[in-house]
Amino acid sequence: MPGHALAPSVPIGVVGAGTMGSGIAQVAAVAGHEVRLYDVLPGAAASAIERIHGHVDRMVAKDRLTAPDGDAAKARLRPVQALADLAGCGLVIEAALEELSVKRELFTELEKVCGDDAVLASNTSTFSITAIAAGLQRPERVVGMHFFNPAPLMALVEVPAGAATSEAVAEQVFDTATAWGKTPVRCTSTPGFVVNRVARPFYGEALQVLEDGAADCATIDAVLRESGGFRMGSFELADLVGNDVNLAVGRSVWEQTFGDPRYAPSTRQQALVDAGWMGRKSGRGWYTYDDESPEPATEQPRPAPERVVYHGGFATCYGLLDRIVAGGVSVERYLTGASGARNGSDDFDPSEIAYGVELPSGGLVIETTGEPVSMDGDAVSLDWVGDAANATRVCLAPSDACEPNTLAEAIGLFQAASLAVTVIDDVPGLVVARTVSMLVNEAVDLVARGEAAAADVDTAMRLGTGYPRGPLAWGDEVGAGLVVDVLTELARAYPSGRYRPSPMLIRAARAGRPLVSLARR
Ligand code: NAD
Repeated sequence: MPGHALAPSVPIGVVGAGTMGSGIAQVAAVAGHEVRLYDVLPGAAASAIERIHGHVDRMVAKDRLTAPDGDAAKARLRPVQALADLAGCGLVIEAALEELSVKRELFTELEKVCGDDAVLASNTSTFSITAIAAGLQRPERVVGMHFFNPAPLMALVEVPAGAATSEAVAEQVFDTATAWGKTPVRCTSTPGFVVNRVARPFYGEALQVLEDGAADCATIDAVLRESGGFRMGSFELADLVGNDVNLAVGRSVWEQTFGDPRYAPSTRQQALVDAGWMGRKSGRGWYTYDDESPEPATEQPRPAPERVVYHGGFATCYGLLDRIVAGGVSVERYLTGASGARNGSDDFDPSEIAYGVELPSGGLVIETTGEPVSMDGDAVSLDWVGDAANATRVCLAPSDACEPNTLAEAIGLFQAASLAVTVIDDVPGLVVARTVSMLVNEAVDLVARGEAAAADVDTAMRLGTGYPRGPLAWGDEVGAGLVVDVLTELARAYPSGRYRPSPMLIRAARAGRPLVSLARR
């Protein structure tokens, strides 16, 4: 058992027997603790325990628990009628209503009934641990213990420390979560903690592309999934979480950061909530969930060009070359290394030639560095691809001066590589590049502010959101310099301050320092 974890003989109190409280009670009981469950609603704790028994039975049926261990876990769960019954618990986890006044009242009561050495934790998603603990006799024993839904299945637990939280208390909760089979991460009580903070652009960028009229929801979602490698698109995920919940989390981060433009809520999403279109739970959200599910924009088959010329070194397009060749297109490659040498010759100036593919039409396919491709004459912009070997779609945008033949050849080129092709309007940073760049920027910013360690940010985002990679590792793969380029172009296009690159990101890009190893001095 990790060094400071509470022994299984220590009783655990859980306040609030709803979705989260019952999941947390189940985790603690299966881990060997006596669990006392309290809810303000009479009978709620007892019926929650009945439901937990059902979940434990299913764990036994699936061989995830032996029958005697399942019976023992069930026997350890007990509903209690009053907060005072939590006296003697070594750790009380509050998972009641998400209202600051309710939580403050509860903690004031808990402080009175619990022993001096009891740790008091809150599962709040949005409130500051510092604010919850304010005014208590012993705020140093208050800490966050932020489980994800469903608590028994999700490995991640964020452990945010408030301004007054003692190191020993945070360590004890961290080690206890580890002993319960979870993967905890430490952070400060910063707005949104790690996951709800760093994930904001995943929604914000998709909304911006939608608001710019460049593509519809189904198309943006398909590009994020099939090209970016995300498990779900932003709109389908917001519909699953509930647009009311998603908007409230975003608004809370925005308000707590005093209106930082990076987190500005979307009027389009607000309109959805005003209409009562919360998502799956209300039968309508970004999608209508009737028989006609909208198809993403996908191009009809076009002939592949016989031969193209590739110039460059960027990850996305380079990674797709083998697939293009396997699809029967002959590719002449001019690779530019750090020296800029072209196929070994030293008379090549890389600044004179765009990175990307030269088509037989004379037009170019240019991997996006953030700026609209309409600056480049007869050209097509290529969005980033998360995983070139496994992507099933690419996203292209023609420049204003793009010849029809150039666009047709570009479409045929990627279709030859067995990729579906989506064509959208020429927006800065397209879809995947802007989303990934903003996720990287948020992650770096959190590290720069000393809110969380780099490794913890990547772990939290992989486990909490299911992103294919942690944003810092993703940034290293793409190259911090390219991320800065995309952000700089976006900042030029939308001068609100939302896209300003983190100073630590700029320094890391200049010094060639890996983002995964960044640390605050
Ligand atoms: P829920 O509505 O399912 O359950 C809340 C329960 O708390 C209800 O049973 C209610 O009767 C009870 N309650 C309300 N006031 C109380 C009081 N004063 N004393 C005791 N019990 C009281 O809500 P939930 O989704 O389980 O959320 C609980 C907490 O967990 C919130 O702070 C929420 O922000 C946080 N959280 C939720 C999720 C999620 O995905 N649902 C994820 C992480 C954290």
